[in-house]
Amino acid sequence: MTHKKGQMVLYTGCSGVGKGTIMKELLKRDPSIRLSVSNTTREPREGEIHGVHYNFITREEFLAVADADGYIEHAEYCKNLYGTPRKQVEEMLDEGFNVFLEIEVKGGLQVMEQYPDVLSIFILPPSLEELEARLRGRGTEEESVIAERMKQAVEELKYKDKYRYQVVNDDLQKAVNEVLDILHRYQ
Ligand code: 5GP
Repeated sequence: MTHKKGQMVLYTGCSGVGKGTIMKELLKRDPSIRLSVSNTTREPREGEIHGVHYNFITREEFLAVADADGYIEHAEYCKNLYGTPRKQVEEMLDEGFNVFLEIEVKGGLQVMEQYPDVLSIFILPPSLEELEARLRGRGTEEESVIAERMKQAVEELKYKDKYRYQVVNDDLQKAVNEVLDILHRYQ
């Protein structure tokens, strides 16, 4: 059976904006969607599963994949390396799935350069105050990490207009519906 190639979707939003929660809903609501599982050198947070949330690998392993051109993009974020495995994404696209790359802006810009037609969506917090409250509420990071991530968020927000679409996450279901509308309109 032959499939129409799927759509690659660049999906970015600063940490704490709720993009993971939106993503879970998207996966539940639309069986054409797959999430690319990234490689990272970051330590797993509690409850994170190797192969599901990320492939947790060492710096040496990460750099070996990068040297072999095994990533669509890769970037350093808060002192950890993150990369999108090329083969996995290409296979899912060939199978006809719409593949979401949930990545930060430096990687996002690399993807836009390589795939000018990529569907790009930036998830915005209702405000920076709300973002900080959410990061604190998550309770998984230390103060210094929160401060670092807020600084990073302000930097990342500068790039929101490089993305074709911006979706404000003030209400989960509304944000999910908006992303699905954008995806379905684009096909
Ligand atoms: P976290 O450590 O909170 O899971 O992720 C930190 C940031 O890295 C988030 O913005 C997340 O979207 C991004 N990220 C996750 N995987 C990748 C990847 O493969 N490449 C890039 N460039 N960023 C990623």
